[in-house]
Amino acid sequence: MRDRICIVCGRPLGETPLMTLADMPASAQDIPVKEELGEEQGITLSLHQCQACGLVQFDCEPVAYYKDVIRSGGFTTTMVNLRKRQYRHFIDRYHLEGKKLIEAGCGQGEFLGLLSDFPVKAYGIENRESLVRLAREKGLTVWKQFAAEGEFLASDDGSASGPFDGFLSFNFLEHQPDPVGMLRCIADNLSEEGVGLITVPSLEYILQYDGYYELIRDHLAYYTFDTLRYAVEKAGFQVLEEEMINRDTLSVIVKKNSAGQAKERRTHTPVDISGLKESLDTIGRELEALTDGLKSQGKTLGIWGASHQGFTLASTTVIGRFARYIIDSAPFKQGKYAPASHLPIVPPDHYHMDPVDAILIVAPGYTDEIAGIIQERFGGNVEILALKSNHLERI
Ligand SMILES: [Zn+2]
Repeated sequence: MRDRICIVCGRPLGETPLMTLADMPASAQDIPVKEELGEEQGITLSLHQCQACGLVQFDCEPVAYYKDVIRSGGFTTTMVNLRKRQYRHFIDRYHLEGKKLIEAGCGQGEFLGLLSDFPVKAYGIENRESLVRLAREKGLTVWKQFAAEGEFLASDDGSASGPFDGFLSFNFLEHQPDPVGMLRCIADNLSEEGVGLITVPSLEYILQYDGYYELIRDHLAYYTFDTLRYAVEKAGFQVLEEEMINRDTLSVIVKKNSAGQAKERRTHTPVDISGLKESLDTIGRELEALTDGLKSQGKTLGIWGASHQGFTLASTTVIGRFARYIIDSAPFKQGKYAPASHLPIVPPDHYHMDPVDAILIVAPGYTDEIAGIIQERFGGNVEILALKSNHLERI
């Protein structure tokens, strides 16, 4: 095996990972169909911390679709208001009225569309053709392109091109195997005074509140303000503002730095991942106790939530062998199988044909809503459980 190097600073990652996770889903988005199950299997992921720049990262290849921005739906009012507040501040503070902004990785324009309330010229690039089409149907100026180093960002017909005055990047950088190359491409397509707004999930939040099941192969890098700052500086930006948003997300405003790139870094703050390791033990033990208890009473279990968290719990614990199925309301997931564990994904109505005695909800943010649906549609005889942070709770 060749030595893996840090995706930001290029130095060797070393041989000792912070943590190794076996039987993890190979991808969160490519959900296998029956014919693919023979080939499909879980993978081992090694989480490393770069000894030079401190970035925490997996040492694996990226998923096949890392250039595409696939946002899971369900945009809450809170998220919309948050984005609008960010836009208002960014545009006012950096005098972007009437200027050209580009979102690098805009998906189907979920966030780009919210810019139409503001006095700017908004553009977006997206790698996945079907998403570009959806964005255009909403009337947005979006074309197919990916910000790789050396790319000139412009629409095919030349009607939209740089230099742009500002850029936006929402939870996309953590998927990238070459984050510095992506940021350099963007910098090269900005005006001299160009600014940008970047968000990524916070490593500290995951370490403090989440279990190991939040780790996902799609997210190659787990940034802190410190390691994110180093990555953007290496690409020729300087950080003007840092803010924690929605408790779990890092948001930074950057500006092109005329002084050039950051110097090489050789020091870092070691990260403490004991909470993640503990969650692997605790959750594994609690789910074993749950299945033993149900088994001894001749009872059965289902899971609700074909999310990456649900897939990970199914493939890394006993419930993947014990549960009968995973329920999910999204039609495009139904009839397929969970990666690695190969549990069938079924619609909610499947319960009536093949009832279970207990259902474990694995859908962070939607637990109460789903518990309500179960009580209403399946009646009061189903035992409802949910995973909250590091523990199993009865509802
Ligand atoms: Zn590094």
